[in-house]
Parts: sequence; structure tokens; C-alpha cells
Amino acid sequence: MIVKTDAVVLKSMKFRGTSKIVTFYTRRYGKLKGVAKGAREMKSKFGAALEPMTRVGLVLYKKETRDLHLISQCDILRSYKRIHTDIERMAVTLSVLELVNQLAHQEEENPLLYSLVLETMDAIEMSEGYPLNILYAFELRVCSLFGFGPSWDRCVRCGRASDDLTGGNVVLQLIKGAMFCPTCGEEQPAMEYERLLRKRQGSASPANVAKRLGNLRIPLRTHQILRRLSTAPLESVGAIRYHESTGNELDATLRLYLRYHFEDLKPLKSLDILKQITTLYI
Ligand SMILES: [Zn+2]
Repeated sequence: MIVKTDAVVLKSMKFRGTSKIVTFYTRRYGKLKGVAKGAREMKSKFGAALEPMTRVGLVLYKKETRDLHLISQCDILRSYKRIHTDIERMAVTLSVLELVNQLAHQEEENPLLYSLVLETMDAIEMSEGYPLNILYAFELRVCSLFGFGPSWDRCVRCGRASDDLTGGNVVLQLIKGAMFCPTCGEEQPAMEYERLLRKRQGSASPANVAKRLGNLRIPLRTHQILRRLSTAPLESVGAIRYHESTGNELDATLRLYLRYHFEDLKPLKSLDILKQITTLYI
């Protein structure tokens, strides 16, 4: 069956003599893999259309009984010039696509996730400031799409609004993404944030401890940044600034939250590379 869909190229690898196997995230069929015959020949009809981080119009011969399809045509719809030339934007985009590749199920349509991926890539391409914030905002939105988006505007016990809090540590309830204000949180068993940064020690890794307790205690300022990243428009989150220590807390909190809800999630390699090559915070 010949099908058409638009798609984002997640990754591509060499295959046999001159071909490539390409993984796409598509609007109509979710994640799927195709083989592009002759794609590595000098005068290939595919040109640069099979490069990761490219939005394409895809035509393929889809075999119902197999999970590797035949790519017959692939044309660039958007090439994202700044993403392909700026190493920080590139590493953030690759982190987004790595996460999609891990979370998306084979050939399962999810138009909301597809739209979110495009919106996120547009924001990384166009916006100024800190592209890493867009990854964080994307991750928070992914949690919402999968049904465990954080609801951090009010204390889950006393109803006090986050905006009215002035200091102290809040407690994040991992399972529901709920928040206890500093007063109600005091009596909650929770892992202290400092422990999250310590090296893994045997089976009592921070992630395991947090899982057992179900809660994480974090500074109010980090909680407020997470809220802004959750709700501000994607194209504006690059402008959110914070101190390096808050950046570390944000990152560690998000890694823990994602791992808590997606147990099989592997660390994002591109994110590690990004941390090594750039100074991200002021
Ligand atoms: Zn409270």
C-alpha cells in the first residue's frame, strides 16, 4: 500500500552498500522505519531529505506485515537552518528527538505529540536565549500529554496558591505531579534535593529512594521556574533565566520525574553532550 504523510526524521543509519535505514516520527502512523535504497549514492534522489532534524513529506510503500517499509519519495518541507548550524540548538533538538524515539510506540498515531514536536522544533529554530529551556518545557508538556502533567499551582492539601508562597521548600508528589506548600510539606516524608545530586551508591540510588518515599523536597524558586516552563508559550521560554544552581536543580528534578513515570527511559546522550560543550547559565 502506498501511503503519504509528513514526518520528522529522527535518525538514519547506513544499510548495506548504498542504502540507509531511516526512523521517522510521522503525523499519520507515529514512529516508523523505512529503507531508502541508493540513498548514499552521489546522485541520490533523496538529497539531504533523510538527515535527522528535518521535516519531510514522505511517500512509502507500507507493508502491513513488516516493520521496515520501502521509502519511495522524501522531500524536504523544512530544513531548520539554525538548528543544523548552531551546536546548542542542535544538541537540544537531538535530545527532543531522542526522547520521542524512546517514548513513541511503533506505528501508533499520536497527532498531539506530532504537533508538539513540530512546535518545539520551530521554537528551537526561531527563539533567542536558552534553547535548553525549550527541552525542559517540551518534557513537561510530554508529561501532560501522557496524563501525568504536574499541577503545581496550589497546595494539594490546604489549597494555598503557589503565587502566594514566599520561601522555603515545597514538596513534589511524584506520582500525581502535585505540590505541598512548605507548611504542609514539612510533615511529608520526602527525599531531600541534595541527595539527588549525590553519586549512586549501591541499590540505594537517589531515584530508588525518591521512588520509595514518593516525594521530592525542592526549593520554592526551582518550583516556580518549573511552573513557568510548564505554562509559558514555547517560543518565549528561552528568555527565562536562572542561576546555575537552580539550573542543576531543574535538570535533576526533571530527570527524576521522567524516570519515575517512564521506567525504561535511558539517559539522553545528546543532553549529556550539551552539558559538556556549553556553559549554559549565567
Ligand atoms: Zn499547604
